[in-house]
Amino acid sequence: MKKTPFLTLEKAREITAQIPTPFHIYDEAGIRQRARDLYAAFSWNKGFKEFFAVKATPNPYILKILHEEGCGCDCATYTELLLAQATGITGRDIMFSSNVTPEQDMRQALEMNAYINLDDATHVEFLERLGTVPDTVCLRYNPGGSFSLGNTIMDMPRDAKYGMTEDQMAGAINRLMQLGTKHFGIHAFLASNTTTNEYYPTLAEQLFRLAVRLRNATGAHIAFINLSGGVGVDYRPEQPSCDIKAIGEGVRQRYEKVLTPVGMDDIAIFTELGRYMLAPFGHLVSTVLHHKHIYREYVGLDACAANLMRPAMYGAYHHITVLGKENAILDHVYDVIGGLCENNDKFAIERSLPRMDIGDLVVIHDTGAHGFSMGYNYNGKLRSAEVLLCADGSFQLIRRAETPMDYFATFDITPFQFHN
Ligand SMILES: *Cc1c(COP(=O)(O)O)cnc(C)c1O
Repeated sequence: MKKTPFLTLEKAREITAQIPTPFHIYDEAGIRQRARDLYAAFSWNKGFKEFFAVKATPNPYILKILHEEGCGCDCATYTELLLAQATGITGRDIMFSSNVTPEQDMRQALEMNAYINLDDATHVEFLERLGTVPDTVCLRYNPGGSFSLGNTIMDMPRDAKYGMTEDQMAGAINRLMQLGTKHFGIHAFLASNTTTNEYYPTLAEQLFRLAVRLRNATGAHIAFINLSGGVGVDYRPEQPSCDIKAIGEGVRQRYEKVLTPVGMDDIAIFTELGRYMLAPFGHLVSTVLHHKHIYREYVGLDACAANLMRPAMYGAYHHITVLGKENAILDHVYDVIGGLCENNDKFAIERSLPRMDIGDLVVIHDTGAHGFSMGYNYNGKLRSAEVLLCADGSFQLIRRAETPMDYFATFDITPFQFHN
């Protein structure tokens, strides 16, 4: 499908008059609609809840919008827990899905009464040692082998560091029941950025069958199944996009096939989506700084991989629109680059684009998840601002850009100390 930015040239000019590029901008109306569509797709399940994966877009304004739409937070670290708490999100609105968990992190999650999602069976002893065994505990499953949809191998759980085996889960449940735990959840994350409607239903059926076996083996009450993240988005215009209604319906059919007949139809479905909730509703807005003609044509932006790491790290495709030239013919071939001293700092390689002029405003699409949050300070590049395009058409700065003072904040000297 043709990719159309949610930002017009006119609006972008209004914003850049106050907030210099580069910045990430988020579309409030789009985010709210997506959350509503997700809840509608799973409305058949009484306890359904989305715990937004905070690592995708760790901004309190975004977390608050999602919270208003009924979503909680999926946190993995102490600082993510603090961010959720500072946003007013705590208790059973938090899923704590960590691994290699430091004691401080686990204590914070327990103090906040978050759902604890244990990555490993040895973490039962860890909870005992900390003196708090919650009445509900989630366990992360790793089935080993490969994970396939139809004839396509999606990923290799046997090579993944996460989760525990079925035997270990049964052992952990038995021990936790001795220690007083009453309810259990089951979690697995087996494939990332899937764009078929079959991922969640296939995963759900595996986890439903596992839930039945674990209940039969231990007598435990399974309270929820956490399908985690992994529903993807169409980064490329020609890619299919997921149909969340079909996904919800697919999960419902598996639920009625596996759980309802054995009387386990009080199980709530949880999700921990990050990318699906936010990616399409973020743009990285940047200005063309330079042209360069050597063996290829280069267009240099004021944004770089420190603002969006995915192309450099994974060779990921991100669509690019030149604002005001949305319908212009794509009669130029450019490498679109940032200014890091790293040759992989390219947002696009030999991409057909309209003619780009110095000063043009450029939108890099689908940066709302795993965009700003993967940013870093290499080469002394500073993290950008984040802006919210509000549902009423106004805009709001929701994180200022870093300054050299921020870069120097962890030293005991300041940027201007050695002047004169
Ligand atoms: C990263 C992550 C998610 C979110 O993944 P998406 O691909 O953004 O949906 C959810 N749960 C856990 C445990 C994760 O690590």
